[in-house]
Amino acid sequence: MPTANPRPFNFSAGPATLPEPVLRQAAEEMLDWHGCGMGVMEMSHRGKEFISIHEQAVATLRELLAVPSNFHVLFMQGGGLGENAIVPMNLAGPQPGGLVDVVVTGSWSKKSLAEAQRYADARAAASNDADGRSAIPAPGTWQLREGAAYVHVCSNETIDGLEMAELPDLAALGCRSPLVADCSSHILSRTIDWSRAGVVFAGAQKNIGPAGLTLVFVRDDLLGRALPICPSAFDYSVVAAHGSMFNTPPTYAIYVAGLVFEWVKAQGGVAEMDRRAAEKSALLYNYLDDCGGFYRNRVALTARSRMNVPFFLHNESLNDAFLAGAREAGLLQLKGHKSVGGMRASLYNAMPLAGVQALVGYMKDFARRHG
Ligand SMILES: *Cc1c(COP(=O)(O)O)cnc(C)c1O
Repeated sequence: MPTANPRPFNFSAGPATLPEPVLRQAAEEMLDWHGCGMGVMEMSHRGKEFISIHEQAVATLRELLAVPSNFHVLFMQGGGLGENAIVPMNLAGPQPGGLVDVVVTGSWSKKSLAEAQRYADARAAASNDADGRSAIPAPGTWQLREGAAYVHVCSNETIDGLEMAELPDLAALGCRSPLVADCSSHILSRTIDWSRAGVVFAGAQKNIGPAGLTLVFVRDDLLGRALPICPSAFDYSVVAAHGSMFNTPPTYAIYVAGLVFEWVKAQGGVAEMDRRAAEKSALLYNYLDDCGGFYRNRVALTARSRMNVPFFLHNESLNDAFLAGAREAGLLQLKGHKSVGGMRASLYNAMPLAGVQALVGYMKDFARRHG
């Protein structure tokens, strides 16, 4: 492949930027994977070539996140919103109407609550709606019900830019229900404390790879409770029993995700991603806090996401000029989510420090010219 000019930095919240070496390898292997005469998209998912790709991806993912043996790793479809229904259909049984407690910390957990209400007696255990979604309600204030089928949290709110510093310790709160965590937008940026988790899920298109693949980690003892209405292809027990091959899995997305897992490992693993996330996000937040009010981020210091940084120009009439100039400077997809407005910079694993340096440099220059 000819070497192109440096690619622009892409701050999309998802589908999002991928490591360039991964894209190059996928391009090289597009027509012929490892000399087998077929591209990955063209292979049977039951052939030995794809089975080796699949097994390698699962093994590397398990290694990266130190997934204990009592957790199944499932490669599913349906995305984060699909899991909002798939989780209650799997965990809120065996009778309909089980109790589900959802900690509402932003747009995604709010959607999870609404969807769970279709299958279960789901309620908000806490909500930060009233404070403008600027902080995460302290776990000690959560109204958790005895006997709930599970407690749902979104540990990184992609739209609002809030992140839990760690998964909550439900046992320490006197709650015996399993924890379900939507980690879609920060998976692989830090370790997961599996002793606190029952189910962890994540759409791939933020920090892992192409859209179409959903990662689900489910603890052994939570299998076998699905409601009768749960489609077989979404029943964790069925998917686990078939090694994620009950139906055709999203083969190409799994292949690219596998390349990303190898890339993360070669960079130094999740510990290194964690270190980089701290460094990159600190660079941007420090500038936002020190810029004298031209820009600002509204999230409480303790709840700020290291992955998704929403920010606002003091003078919002400059928004279009800011975005147009950014595009020209090779800084793409900085427009904020329509429900929040302003700007949002997503700093996933594949975003290099140089990208954040370029962004801050552009922001300084823009503020100087328009201040
Ligand atoms: C993007 C996202 C989702 C939704 O994913 P879809 O694949 O569009 O269903 C759910 N939760 C979180 C935290 C997300 O970032």
